[in-house]
Amino acid sequence: IEKDALLRKKHNIHISGNNVPSPLENFSELSSRYGCESYLLHNLAELGFKEPTPIQRQAIPVLLSGRECFACAPTGSGKTLAFVCPMLMKLKHASKDGIRAVILCPTRELAAQTARESKKLAKGKKFYIKLLTKELLRSGGISKLPCDILISTPLRLRSAIRKKKLDLSRVEYLVLDESDKLFELGLVKQIDAVVKACSNPSIIRSLFSATLPDFVEELARTIMHDAVRVIIGRKNS
Ligand code: ADP
Ligand code: MG
Repeated sequence: IEKDALLRKKHNIHISGNNVPSPLENFSELSSRYGCESYLLHNLAELGFKEPTPIQRQAIPVLLSGRECFACAPTGSGKTLAFVCPMLMKLKHASKDGIRAVILCPTRELAAQTARESKKLAKGKKFYIKLLTKELLRSGGISKLPCDILISTPLRLRSAIRKKKLDLSRVEYLVLDESDKLFELGLVKQIDAVVKACSNPSIIRSLFSATLPDFVEELARTIMHDAVRVIIGRKNS
């Protein structure tokens, strides 16, 4: 416990919540503590990621423990990996059981970038990672395609939900990325529609952001259960 506190202090990790799991000392704890498969460790090494960033140290164990999380860390501090890595570990392997995870990003560009990064991390493992594009929607077949992780903007996803183009009732993980921007862009209604459509009662939701304005935190609290809050540095810097 003392060791956890020291490690958090060293990396400027601030937490609140019940029974917060220990932060990672290194990436190899992903296999010793959580049975991570070798493809993922191999990909981290291949990408040149030697050590977890502060947000990764704390958010990854929180999500791997099956806890909901809201996380705030500066731009460029590796938040994508902090939610994609535990998602891949929890999903374990590809499946044809419909859409299993959803990542919402504020813009198409960020969604495309997140899809690229997720595919790099999943390399060597046959996950179905799909960016929700116009073409994919037009082809009509998103509900028939296997999809482990679906990445979209709230607007495009809500429009697909309205047109009954897909079924989100089996989604196990929902991430709101860059949530400060999502809310700033006035996408509350669209996000709400997605949250409602993801009707699986055991869903794990998480929220990642560069800043955590009070209103975002309040909104987050209305949809999360026993969440852990992780802040790197200061809340709104
Ligand atoms: P954020 O979402 O916090 O703004 P990103 O997830 O986009 O940050 O990551 C920023 C950059 O850092 C990316 O180029 C990413 O590949 C790289 N990166 C992520 N994790 C690590 C790590 N553990 N070590 C080194 N670089 C990393
Ligand atoms: Mg990001």
